[in-house]
Amino acid sequence: MDNGSCDPQVSLSLPEAAILPAMIDTHCHLTYDPLHERVEEVIANAASDGVDRMITVGTTPADARKGLELTRRFENIFSTVGVHPHYADQCQDKQVVLDTMKELAADPKVVALGEMGLDRHYPDPPIQIQKTLLDWQLEVCHELSDMPIIIHNREATDETISQLSTSGIDPARFVFHCFTGQLDELEKILAFGAMVSFTGITTFKSAPYLAEAAKIMPADRIMIETDSPYLTPAPHRKVRPNEPRYVACVAAFIAQVRQMPLADFVKLVDSNACRFFGLADH
Ligand SMILES: [Zn+2]
Repeated sequence: MDNGSCDPQVSLSLPEAAILPAMIDTHCHLTYDPLHERVEEVIANAASDGVDRMITVGTTPADARKGLELTRRFENIFSTVGVHPHYADQCQDKQVVLDTMKELAADPKVVALGEMGLDRHYPDPPIQIQKTLLDWQLEVCHELSDMPIIIHNREATDETISQLSTSGIDPARFVFHCFTGQLDELEKILAFGAMVSFTGITTFKSAPYLAEAAKIMPADRIMIETDSPYLTPAPHRKVRPNEPRYVACVAAFIAQVRQMPLADFVKLVDSNACRFFGLADH
């Protein structure tokens, strides 16, 4: 593929954003310091760029409670509850993990379980501890059978799919968020039956395989997100921290590689997100 042609020419300025349908950032971390300390401004920035709803994703029991507090302050913020594999060694009390998930999941503003999964990028926490934590959380997923589940998978695609398959949970309930794998990994996730979500990494020149992955995604299985405060997309890569407003740049880039009008692509991912997370249509 000619990577040069994938550069989004649009840097979304307000007039352009104004003609776009409203967007959802399906995965951000508004509870993390660089966003939380100025959350009103972050949410206002998002609104001015057409991002009218955000899902702030929980990574520990305490973080999930902090996310739920944000949903109390802002009507357009939704949250999730789960334990990220990075915190597997800090969340060793199974009862606390299960009780927190069940308690928070009962709240109407909590729209998904997760993020949970496996991460082999770093040697710690040890993978066996991560797998045990994931199994505990999958027990809750079984019980709360109407909730979608956000999966974090980094360099552990085969093991993640195998553990999720063993759980017997309907694969359509899972989204593999922040996809960063190779095309063969994408094929495996699609064959398994999960949704796949793309971040600003997709726009990086160093990752042409992600542009290709976003291009070949089935229309009804693709979602987009920022994973902010990390991973600011092109053309704003130097901006720190990333914010939900920049999900529009992820949309612009993928619309271009899929050779679709941006407004049509935004409508497509919006309807996928609303269906998957059970949110009202725009
Ligand atoms: Zn995340």
